[in-house]
Amino acid sequence: MASICPNCHTAEAIAVLENGDGISLFPCLFCTRYPRQTPHGGTRECSAPCATPHCTGWITDVYYFRTEIAEHVERQPCKACGSPKTKEPESTSPRRRQFTPDPRR
Ligand SMILES: [Zn+2]
Ligand SMILES: [Zn+2]
Repeated sequence: MASICPNCHTAEAIAVLENGDGISLFPCLFCTRYPRQTPHGGTRECSAPCATPHCTGWITDVYYFRTEIAEHVERQPCKACGSPKTKEPESTSPRRRQFTPDPRR
């Protein structure tokens, strides 16, 4: 899965890998920054337009931080149509660049 970048608000820009003890986030495909919050955790929300044709709603991703690195991302579906799908920017498909996971995790 992929989530919305909280820094540049590009949809599907952060690749999320789920593993046994949480998630690993990859840097944004566009601004190359990690979704981080400093210094003591909390939540951070970001929204992107809904992918449903003619829908003007928004999809929201909520990042939960215990430390400065997000440990959970929750997608809130479009309030207008209920779809969880964001409109993917043309420039990220069909080919995505490869990134290595954050070495600090
Ligand atoms: Zn970004
Ligand atoms: Zn919608």
